[in-house]
Amino acid sequence: MIKKILKYAGVLILVLIVVMVVNTLRLKSYQPDIDYNPTQINDDRVIERLQEAIRFKTVTYDNPFRYDSLQFESFHQYLRDNFPLLHQQFELKKINDYALLYKLEGSDAQLKPAILLAHQDVVPVDSAKWSCDPFGGINDGTFVWGRGTLDDKGSLMAILEAVEMQLANGYAPKRTLYLAFGNDEEVGGIGAQAIARYLKQQGVDAAFVLDEGLVITSGMVPMIDRPVALIGTSEKGYMSVKLSCQVEGGHSSTPQSNTAISVISDAIVALTQNRPTAQFCGPVNDFLDYLGPELAWPQRLVFANRWLFEPVILSIYQKTKAGNALVRTTTAPTVLKAGMKDNVLPDYGEAVINYRILPGLTTEELLKYVATTVNNPDIKIEQLGVVREPAPVSPIATEGFDLIAQSIKEQYSETLVMPTLMLASSDSRHYKEVSKNIYRFAPYQLVSEDLSRIHGNDERISIESYKNMIGFYYRLLSKL
Ligand SMILES: [Zn+2]
Repeated sequence: MIKKILKYAGVLILVLIVVMVVNTLRLKSYQPDIDYNPTQINDDRVIERLQEAIRFKTVTYDNPFRYDSLQFESFHQYLRDNFPLLHQQFELKKINDYALLYKLEGSDAQLKPAILLAHQDVVPVDSAKWSCDPFGGINDGTFVWGRGTLDDKGSLMAILEAVEMQLANGYAPKRTLYLAFGNDEEVGGIGAQAIARYLKQQGVDAAFVLDEGLVITSGMVPMIDRPVALIGTSEKGYMSVKLSCQVEGGHSSTPQSNTAISVISDAIVALTQNRPTAQFCGPVNDFLDYLGPELAWPQRLVFANRWLFEPVILSIYQKTKAGNALVRTTTAPTVLKAGMKDNVLPDYGEAVINYRILPGLTTEELLKYVATTVNNPDIKIEQLGVVREPAPVSPIATEGFDLIAQSIKEQYSETLVMPTLMLASSDSRHYKEVSKNIYRFAPYQLVSEDLSRIHGNDERISIESYKNMIGFYYRLLSKL
């Protein structure tokens, strides 16, 4: 009998191995079959123009909301002076005074328009922590330094350079092209909302929207040595939940079993110990589809057989902070308030939990989950401040995604393209009524050390990377 069982088990394992190997051998790369054929930028005036663009202090502040309108007006004048063909041939509409919407009519009205986004504003600086003037636009021969080089004037200027170059060569795209540059992305994107509203009123249904978001990473995708261009196909949602309770206070010499502190603490423990379950949402599944075929053995075998190894892959992702954020609606207790004196029982306590929500879950469902998990009628649960649903997931079997992916392969040798989920947010979320195909990617070539420079100190872009960005947009424009 045992012999028989062993025999069957042996056959089963053999069949399993054959299935796994066949799956692995059948794994086909999703990379577009496009030859490396970059557009070379040899004119160094593009660098001088970027340096000059950095010198405009187009800073937006929240709390209270403010900016220097003169800086935006001079920046606009600067663009008019330096991109003459664009300003002759595109129609320019200013929305909310400082948001810019450029339009060039395409030759084929049947084709849906394309929209390229970037933003003019930058976050404030802490000058004392910079090793150079953040608004000096300094060029050290390898890098241009300054606030906005990576977020997001680099992309804005590269788009304009590429358009101007195309126009000088008699550009006449088939589809209508919009360039939409918001003026306050860093403080909520009211400008972008107004542009999107205007486009919707005009009945625009775009083939695709391309905005900042993810970048070309080096050494940041585990198990892959080559650079990877990550394209965000959705953004996580955002919701903070305030928990508060009012209980009996009194003197700490005769405490009751629960004070406001213990009630609120119990709720936090319940929520952090019963987190929403980890899972692969649509954009991360797409990422794994693209990743698998590029891996070496034996990882390739694991990714080719996700039906069997998914729990293993999921547990690996949960081991790092960034990986965990990709596979989970994250739970972060961020504020805790209760008590004011060592011998007084607090009668009031509150806590704030910040959630970043995976596509597939709504804020309403999340709020219900919080209520059932806390399971205490004495605790009041309410949403706090800004609430954002996860962005709709953009499909990847689209012309827009293909055009972006092809342009990346043409401009960047050895670079892989992969769709994925974006953890941060961008102006593009306001465009969901204007296009179903929203892609979050600007071709900044970054290593992990660069990430802290964005919104941090010593922000800089390499001259080579900036020239490649212009090349990328030039290639993309050629296909519209
Ligand atoms: Zn930005």
